[in-house]
Amino acid sequence: VASHRAAVGLGSNLGDRRSHIDAALSAIARLGRLVAVSSIYETAPVGGPEQGPYLNAVAVIDTDLAPIALLTCLRHVEQQQGRERRERWGPRTLDLDVLLYGHETVAMQGLTVPHPRMGERRFVLEPLVEAWPDAELPDGTAVGSLLDAVSDQDVVRHEPPPTFP
Ligand code: ATP
Ligand code: CA
Ligand code: CA
Repeated sequence: VASHRAAVGLGSNLGDRRSHIDAALSAIARLGRLVAVSSIYETAPVGGPEQGPYLNAVAVIDTDLAPIALLTCLRHVEQQQGRERRERWGPRTLDLDVLLYGHETVAMQGLTVPHPRMGERRFVLEPLVEAWPDAELPDGTAVGSLLDAVSDQDVVRHEPPPTFP
């Protein structure tokens, strides 16, 4: 099986946000080879009901898992951190999204890659470009070139990335 470089978006706005993010990063590191982790960003919620601010980060891994297997593993990690699914875009202890999977396009029921809304979200693009500066969409568009369009959204670089052995 060929290894693919994948980007995973992390978000938490419920409970001990930092510990949910740290636990997720440790778990994601076991799904492949951890290539890079962004800083942790504090960001205002976009859409959904009124809710508290998020911590967001992006992890980049080289993984042998197929996209759907990767998503299944990420769901388990969400559950381990007490994720409950109530309303869409509501507050959650942990949200893990597959942002990019190499240059591949995935259009399955329950999995669309690149993540369909990443281009509208500075809280995704900013950490993604930090962790993977030459990330590209399947059509070769540089992810960094999408940042201009979201510069009106506020994100605050909160803490440097955790270090992993
Ligand atoms: P958003 O997708 O706008 O970021 P969300 O993360 O809050 O919203 P969830 O409730 O976590 O949404 O997930 C809704 C569904 O999205 C899941 O059931 C999952 O199957 C599907 N999905 C489709 N593409 C992806 C992807 N690339 N990464 C994660 N989930 C995805
Ligand atoms: Ca999400
Ligand atoms: Ca999600």
